[in-house]
Amino acid sequence: CGIVGIVGSRSVAPLLVDALKRLEYRGYDSAGIATLREGRLDRRRAQGKLVALEECLAQDPLEGTTGIGHTRWATHGVPSVGNAHPHFAAGVAVVHNGIIENFAALKAELVDEGVVFETQTDTEVVARLLGARLAAGDRPETAMRTVLARLEGAYALAVVFEDLPDTIFGARNGPPLAIGYGKQEMYLGSDAIALAPFTDDVAYLEDGDWTIVTREGAKIHAADGRPVERKRKRSAGAH
Ligand code: GLU
Repeated sequence: CGIVGIVGSRSVAPLLVDALKRLEYRGYDSAGIATLREGRLDRRRAQGKLVALEECLAQDPLEGTTGIGHTRWATHGVPSVGNAHPHFAAGVAVVHNGIIENFAALKAELVDEGVVFETQTDTEVVARLLGARLAAGDRPETAMRTVLARLEGAYALAVVFEDLPDTIFGARNGPPLAIGYGKQEMYLGSDAIALAPFTDDVAYLEDGDWTIVTREGAKIHAADGRPVERKRKRSAGAH
């Protein structure tokens, strides 16, 4: 139900949790974060409130300067640790708000190809489709473009690839997703409130947009692949 992403220059796990706290007002049943460190993705997830995730992180911290986080309001699959986001497939981590309407058809196709699913969520098909494209030799950007073209429904997505350090992909088709511009750090979030501790300089993606966020900035593409600019504005209520 809430998404955050940070491409940073300091340890991002505590920052991700802070941003998720600002999205608590939307409601959620579980939460999780994933970070990329030295070319490896790792995650912590917990059912229930964010304090449960914080306890989990206190016992077993996550290092890394790039990461994504999620608060989940289950639509497909019960609220549980296993169904909590981020969802992983080989080489990729995904968080998602919304519903992938054609997930059953996509899942059936992947299962036919021998792909094994671990969760009941609609979101896992996004991770598995990306994983399959990577396995077929696609670079992350091509995999992302190809997979987005196959998704029907409402989604905001944040994606991290193991082979692409300091980079987060975002996509929007329905639920809002904002890019936050910082100093030596860039952000993604469901809204400006989530990003307020870090920056008040935000640009909202439009439906069909997808973006590649690095520390240097964000490249935005419209659904047809054309590069576009989205207006940056100062958000009220930041800081
Ligand atoms: N449909 C996804 C799920 O059930 C995402 C729900 C959400 O927006 O939090 O896991």
